[in-house]
Amino acid sequence: MVDKPSGKPDVSVVMYRFMLYFLASLAVFLALAWPAYRKNVESRERILVERLQGFSDVNERLIQQRYRELYSDIRMQVLVPSIRQYMTTGSAADRAEVEAFLLKAAKTYQHYDQIRILDLEGNELIRINHRGGRTQSVPAAELQNKNDRYYFKEALRLSPGEVYAAPLDLNIENGRLEQPHRPTQRLAIKVTDNAGIPRGILVMNHDPSEFLAEFKTSMGLYKPVRGMLLNFGGYWVSDVEPDNEWGWMLGHPERSLAVQQPDIWHTMRTQPRGEIRTHDGLYLFRQFDPFHAAMEYDKTQLKDGTHSSQFHWHGIMAVYMPEISWRRYTVLAQPGGQIGLALIVLLLAVLSWILAQLQVQKAAARAERVRHVREMEHQAHTDVLTGAFNRRHFYLFGERELSRARRIEDPLSLLMLDIDHFKRINDEYGHDIGDEALKLLTRTCLQQLRPHDLFARTGGEEFAALLPHTGIADAAMVAERIRRTVAGLSLPLANGGELGLTVSIGVVQWHAGDADLDALFKRADQKLYQAKDEGRDRVCA
Ligand code: GH3
Ligand code: MG
Ligand code: MG
Repeated sequence: MVDKPSGKPDVSVVMYRFMLYFLASLAVFLALAWPAYRKNVESRERILVERLQGFSDVNERLIQQRYRELYSDIRMQVLVPSIRQYMTTGSAADRAEVEAFLLKAAKTYQHYDQIRILDLEGNELIRINHRGGRTQSVPAAELQNKNDRYYFKEALRLSPGEVYAAPLDLNIENGRLEQPHRPTQRLAIKVTDNAGIPRGILVMNHDPSEFLAEFKTSMGLYKPVRGMLLNFGGYWVSDVEPDNEWGWMLGHPERSLAVQQPDIWHTMRTQPRGEIRTHDGLYLFRQFDPFHAAMEYDKTQLKDGTHSSQFHWHGIMAVYMPEISWRRYTVLAQPGGQIGLALIVLLLAVLSWILAQLQVQKAAARAERVRHVREMEHQAHTDVLTGAFNRRHFYLFGERELSRARRIEDPLSLLMLDIDHFKRINDEYGHDIGDEALKLLTRTCLQQLRPHDLFARTGGEEFAALLPHTGIADAAMVAERIRRTVAGLSLPLANGGELGLTVSIGVVQWHAGDADLDALFKRADQKLYQAKDEGRDRVCA
C-alpha cells in the first residue's frame, strides 16, 4: 500500500462543514440577537410614543388655554353695563353705544369673525362683521332672523352665565358654504337686563384656523406620523390630508374614520384615551375637552358650579404612527447597525471557515493515524512478499485454535509444506522466479483451503496450514490435493520455457500428548522430513 499524501483537505468536505458551522452559528446568533432587537424596536416605539404623548399634551393644553380665553371673553361681554342697559331699554341711543363698543371689541380681539346680539325671538339686533382686517356693523335693514339655527336653539336652553360652544364647522354665508372654507367656532351666552332677566343672546364666531394650523405644524414635525383632530361624529376637523377634513359639511359621509375604520373609531369613541395597535402601526388617542380648563377655573375660582359640559363640543385628538416612524430609529435602520451586522455575519463566516478547515484537517490526520495503525497491524501479521499471514500471526491464532479444539475435543490437524529443491530454483532461475514460485504456491494453497483454515508462511519456503474440525484422514486428503495441484502447476519463464514445482507435506493431528503448538510443529516437521527422505513431492501423514 502506498501512503496517501495528507496535505490539502477535500474542498467539498470543508465547504460542507463550513455551511454547517456557519448556519449553526448564524442560528445561534439570531436566536440571541432577536430578543435584543425586539427590545430595541420596542424602546424606539416607546420613545416615539412618549414624544407624541408630549406633543399631544402640549396641544391639548394650548387648545384649552385658547378656549379659556374665548370663554372669559364672552363672559366678560355680558358684564358690560352698556349691553345690560340696552337690554333694559332697547333705545336707539343705547343700541348705538353698544354697537360702537362691539366694533371696538371686534377690532381689538381680531379673532372673532362676528359678534352679534339676538333677541329671544332670534332677530339679530346688532351684528358686527370682522373680515380681512375690516370691521363693520351690518345695517339694520340687512339683519336676519336666526331662530331656526341650531346654535340659537341651543343657546335658548342656557342658564344665565352658562356658555354654549357649538361644534367646530365651516361658516355658511347666506345658505352657502363660504369659499375658501372658513372654520368657525360659535360661542353663545344669554344677555340680561339690569334686573338680571335674560333678554337676548350674544353670539361670537371665533376663527379656529390659528390653533388648527398650530396643531398641524407641531404634529407634522415627525413626518410619517399622522396627527388628527376628530369630532364625535368620527369626522376629521384636522388631518394631514386636507381632503379628509369637514366631510360632514361637504356632503361626504365616507370621509370619516367612523366609516373608514369602524373598529378603531369605536375604541376611540368609547375610551377616554389609549393605544390601538394595527398590523402596520399604532394609534394614540385621547378624548379632549377644550373647555376643561375654563370649567375648572369656574369651579375653583368663581365657585360657580352650575355649568355643565353638555353645551361644549368635545373632540378626539389622535396620532397614527406607522411602524416605519419608529423602525427607522432602530439599530438596524442605522448605517452603523447595518455595518455592524454585516461585520458580525462576516466574522461568523470567517470563523466557520477556519473552524471547518481545522476540523477537516484534524479529521484527516486522525483518519491517517488510524490507517497507519491498521497498516502497521497488517504488516505485523502478514508476509510482505506473498500477502499470506506470517509466523507470528500463525502462532498467535494457532494457539487459540488449539485451546479451542482441546476444550471441545474437536479434531485439529496441521500441515507443514516445504518446496522441494527451492535452493536450486533460486540458483538456476534467479531470486525473482523463486519469489514468483512462493506467491504461486500461496495462491494455490489458499484456493485449496477452506476460509476458516489458518494458512501462513512460516519460513523462507516453508508454509503451514492449521485445519480445524479436521481429522488426520481428511487433512491428508487436503494435503494430497494441494500436492497434486502444485505438481500440475508451471511457472512461465522469461525465455519462454516453463518451470515445474513440487512440494513435500507433513501432516499430523493434534492429540492429548501435544502440550502446545510447538509440540505439534515438531511432529509435523518429522513427517515433512520423512517425506523429503522418501523422495519429495509427497505427503507423509
Ligand atoms: P529441500 O527440497 O530439501 O527443501 O531443498 P531446498 O533447496 O528447498 O532446501 P532449503 O530448505 O535448504 O532451501 C531453502 C532456500 O530457500 C534457501 C533460500 O535461498 C531460499 N529462500 C528462503 N527465502 C526466500 C525468499 O524469500 N525468496 C527466494 N527466492 N528464496 C528464498
Ligand atoms: Mg526448507
Ligand atoms: Mg525446501
